[in-house]
Amino acid sequence: MKFSEIHGHEELKKKLVKHISSHKIPHAQLFLGPEGCGSLALAIAYIQYLFCHNPGAEDSCGECSSCIKISKHSHPDVHYSYPTAGAKQISTNYIEDWRSMLNSNVYMNTSDWMTKISKDENKTPNITREETRDILAKLSLKPFEGKAKALIIWMPEYLDKVGNSLLKIIEEPPQKTYFILVSEKFDKLLSTITSRTQLVKINAYSDEEVKAYLSSKYQLDHSMAEHIAFVAEGNLREARMLVEEVDDNHSEIFRSFMLASYGNDLDSISKIVDDLAKTGRTQIQLFLQNGLKNLRETLLFKNLDDYQIRFSDDYKGFIKNFSKTLNARMIEKDYELINETIYHIGRNANAKISLFHLSLGLRHNFIRKK
Ligand SMILES: [Zn+2]
Repeated sequence: MKFSEIHGHEELKKKLVKHISSHKIPHAQLFLGPEGCGSLALAIAYIQYLFCHNPGAEDSCGECSSCIKISKHSHPDVHYSYPTAGAKQISTNYIEDWRSMLNSNVYMNTSDWMTKISKDENKTPNITREETRDILAKLSLKPFEGKAKALIIWMPEYLDKVGNSLLKIIEEPPQKTYFILVSEKFDKLLSTITSRTQLVKINAYSDEEVKAYLSSKYQLDHSMAEHIAFVAEGNLREARMLVEEVDDNHSEIFRSFMLASYGNDLDSISKIVDDLAKTGRTQIQLFLQNGLKNLRETLLFKNLDDYQIRFSDDYKGFIKNFSKTLNARMIEKDYELINETIYHIGRNANAKISLFHLSLGLRHNFIRKK
């Protein structure tokens, strides 16, 4: 992973690169930042830069044999240690899952990871005594490729007391051996370990940065990106999750909700409202934001020649039909109603009542048109 593949943190990246280019590389560092700030990605990019055979002034080359191995998480001198589930497990037992997780979601938290390896997010994560022995064994070997060795320990807060067995090697590592501990919670770390590492603080992303990330990665429109950024509070993991959940099924639910409202199908409305209410205020607001997007796409499709609908193929048919059923005035009225509902739900109005009220309003607009 190159620094350029990581969103934001431009000042920090420069600082990290300077460590390496001026040969002032601390032997043990603690990358500390909240969930979803990209700390693990930064640690990997840092090690890749350090190991690169042809580094540029700001980033690794991304093309040399070392960069390629590190980006596949299979460099023989770059080791990872992370929590596992169950007794006597070592990280290496889960290396395939680890690689696939880094590729799909480097912003993961421990419950994502536990779900991946044990299908149970509530399983207690643990870095075992066996793992610390394995670390010591790996680091006692000479580097395979000559340059250096590195160990990234993700979530050292799960080292617990067994972490003390690593103190000596962290304090006096073998030549050209570098540790990066990537942690979210300083107060959960052993003070004996934190006192031996140099702190690199990583801030949460700003709302503006999250918005920019969402707009570029998911082509979200401005208001949706802004809304999600506000809810995610600088956490890219959370932001990605919100978008992916929205894309998965909100359009489908919106279609059912509109059809049930127009048809005055109270049983269906009641079921949809109940299900939505269970997902909580944030998801309801995102559902409604997505509804606004549906209406906007419908209006654009209606009014612009050759307009390309920005939804998946199987959903385009709905927008096309919708655009035949609704006139511009109705779309505008529906838009206002949904916006009002978002406003009320954001201010703690009863979600079920608000959604029922919305459904009645949508039906009213529909009948009036006829
Ligand atoms: Zn390289």
